[in-house]
Amino acid sequence: MQFSVWQRYARPQANRAARFIIILLIASLAGCQRPESGQQPGLFQLPMEYLHLMQTPLPAQLPVPVQGVKPQQIVDTWGAARSQGRRHEGVDIFAKRGTPVLSTTEGLILSVGINTLGGNVVWVLGPDMSRHYYAHLESYGQFSQGDWIKVGDVVGYVGNSGNARTTPPHLHYGIYRNGEGAINPYPYLTRD
Ligand SMILES: [Zn+2]
Repeated sequence: MQFSVWQRYARPQANRAARFIIILLIASLAGCQRPESGQQPGLFQLPMEYLHLMQTPLPAQLPVPVQGVKPQQIVDTWGAARSQGRRHEGVDIFAKRGTPVLSTTEGLILSVGINTLGGNVVWVLGPDMSRHYYAHLESYGQFSQGDWIKVGDVVGYVGNSGNARTTPPHLHYGIYRNGEGAINPYPYLTRD
């Protein structure tokens, strides 16, 4: 997977205060411009979005990221055994191939790419600098790295790429909190 400049800024172990100062410096250099709509922002146009995400808490309740799937249909498989001694660090949401995958949060597209386990994956930087991982996609939504997306925007389409190629199509969805690493998405998707 591509290791982008956005991910370096979003590393959970990075010191929050240091990051804030770096962002303020970049913001002052850039004059805090918000990009024109429909235009992909450049590095020096991003700080306003970063500041917004840093100041916004992650909601306790998030929408189910697969169109048409209800919270009651989701099974909590957090921590279940996986190949090579790994533990399941997310939730699997089964749906027909090609079902739209919808962003649970607003945020910035950190990366769009391919990795061995996840297949076609999208990373979104969300509120409180949380990172949201959408994996095993059949294909991607209409955006590129650095784009701003809103809750419910199409991230991609359900598939079984990566190590899910022997399983029925599903979305693997993971949440990584700043400073905590992977957390169980299940309570966020099923709370009312
Ligand atoms: Zn999974």
